[in-house]
Amino acid sequence: MNFPERFDVIVIGGGHAGTEAALASARMGQKTLLLTHNIETLGQMSCNPSIGGIGKGHLVKEVDALGGAMAAATDEGGIQFRILNSSKGPAVRATRAQADRVLYRQAIRKRLENQQNLWLFQQAVDDLLLAGARVNGVKTQLGLIFHARAVVLTAGTFLAGLVHVGQSNYQAGRAGDPPAVSLAYRLRELNLPVGRLKTGTPPRLDGRSLDYSVMEIQPGDDPVPVFSFLGDAAQHPRQLPCWITHTSEITHEIIRNGLDRSPLYTGVIAGVGPRYCPSIEDKVVRFAEKASHQIFVEPEGLTTHEVYPNGISTSLPFDVQMALVRSIKGFEKAHVTRPGYAIEYDYFDPTGLKSSLETKAIHGLFFAGQINGTTGYEEAAAQGILAGINAGLYVQERAAWCPQRNQAYLGVLVDDLITRGVTEPYRMFTSRAEYRLSLREDNADLRLTEMGRKLGVVDDLRWDAFMRKRDAIEAEQARLRSIWVRPDTLVETDALRVLGKPIEHEYNLYELLRRPDVNYAGVLSLPGAGPAVSDQQVAEQVEIQAKYQGYIDRQHDEIERGRAQESLQLPAELDYSTVRGLSVEAQQKLNRHKPETLGHASRISGITPAAISVLLVHLKRTG
Ligand code: FAD
Repeated sequence: MNFPERFDVIVIGGGHAGTEAALASARMGQKTLLLTHNIETLGQMSCNPSIGGIGKGHLVKEVDALGGAMAAATDEGGIQFRILNSSKGPAVRATRAQADRVLYRQAIRKRLENQQNLWLFQQAVDDLLLAGARVNGVKTQLGLIFHARAVVLTAGTFLAGLVHVGQSNYQAGRAGDPPAVSLAYRLRELNLPVGRLKTGTPPRLDGRSLDYSVMEIQPGDDPVPVFSFLGDAAQHPRQLPCWITHTSEITHEIIRNGLDRSPLYTGVIAGVGPRYCPSIEDKVVRFAEKASHQIFVEPEGLTTHEVYPNGISTSLPFDVQMALVRSIKGFEKAHVTRPGYAIEYDYFDPTGLKSSLETKAIHGLFFAGQINGTTGYEEAAAQGILAGINAGLYVQERAAWCPQRNQAYLGVLVDDLITRGVTEPYRMFTSRAEYRLSLREDNADLRLTEMGRKLGVVDDLRWDAFMRKRDAIEAEQARLRSIWVRPDTLVETDALRVLGKPIEHEYNLYELLRRPDVNYAGVLSLPGAGPAVSDQQVAEQVEIQAKYQGYIDRQHDEIERGRAQESLQLPAELDYSTVRGLSVEAQQKLNRHKPETLGHASRISGITPAAISVLLVHLKRTG
């Protein structure tokens, strides 16, 4: 049966990628349908109820700067907030929040239900409808047919999902949810390059059965940080501490004795797991010399006793899980509420995607989230908002928006995926960004909100707040540049207190702020400096920009030098085996990847600077 409405964009999947994609497309004015297995699980966190962290927090702020939901929902659902790396430079500082998973889900669902141009429908999608090489709709489990000009697929870990606990396994999208088997089968038929990955989760515990008196408390930060640029700490619900405990030699012995029944070590699991989030059995085997591993004991919410023991993800048999849990300090009498498990699922080789996240093989079909080989809610949300925007632009017949590596972590993420592919689940780190001094959490809005406004995803409220902030930063910078102090007017005690030494000639306050050990509050305490700005975000920006200006200017010069070559387009139809001077390996790789630009080509593994020079010559000759 054909559904009566026609849509511009259909999004399949109500996880972190799908919800951001659907919201973005609808904000742009596209008539958007979000189809998902279960409306109750919109915004569900499959694993740890926490958002952010190093690299990941940067992505969340970028999603927020583009009008996305993740940061604001975290502000409404967060029960512990911390700034990681707070003693280090601003480029690597990152916000991390523990969330109440129910409040978080509610905050996401509220936004979805109240978003104009967005329809929700609960149904599993079993098939994609194609007209030649173009997608034009989907078919659901009930046989309902929905038509649209663009489809964004965000099926997460659900495609042919297989859950493992010890030697037992069963098909599921994650514990408690059905897998997407028919769709996985259909996608394999479409000849899209597919592989298997795996991820895992720890057993959950009843907090009332734990002895917190032997654990170390880990409180949140005070003052409590805020995630969204529009957020306010007053929105946060009651805050809770987390706790820290450790595994012991006895735990490790129990694990080693259980390895002969581990699906990981007996070859039952074929998919590769996340390197940076390994299972406890992996840690015990790989780091055999370590006598103990840290476990963060994190609350799952305000209205539940369940806690998440972060650090003991496992797919060992349940009896081994019980024994290992009870060997941990403070967990001796633990009641396990849910077993830990691993899940294997299909992902699609992201080198088959354009930088817009549209598949190269099927026009109008976009992929976002875990399906592209990434891991993490934040990586999924970031791809989701980009795919939603580009699906909207595709329908509007406008050029795709593809942020560059020097503009956003979002650009780094997509560029890494489409040029290098994945061999294991990909997660974001600040070390992946070569321009990380410019790509900070604190300036995500200054980098992206104006573009978001042009794309149509930033509403009036955010735009007005952003312009006020930007104007206030510029006004304060100009004000500081206009106030001068001279050796004869700056009393020595003030100079020593704020600057550590007397000044030798005339300076304006902005110049003084650029000195390494001088901060905004210090400069503002000098006589005649006038009142400080009241907005903390503005004060922070003025200080950071002053301190980093030199480095950032140098980085901009570097970016400008590389820009021309980076964005040089490579024709999609170019047959690289006809390009003289390229090695056979380079020809094969370039033919397989079909890079969009010379910059993309240069980052494909095995493509040497010599091959890039050959391509440059070829382009000049034929261009
Ligand atoms: P998901 O959040 O999986 O959402 C997919 C959505 O699509 C669901 O709503 C589903 O119902 C819907 N869907 C799927 N197929 C269909 C269909 N055919 N029709 C309709 N709807 C469909 N990340 C980490 O960073 N660290 C970890 O330690 C970690 N551990 C994990 C452990 C487990 C067991 C699991 C399952 C995930 C783990 N993750 C972890 C990954 C994290 O959950 C995902 O990265 C993130 O949720 C991906 O978001 P997504 O939107 O791509 O997919």
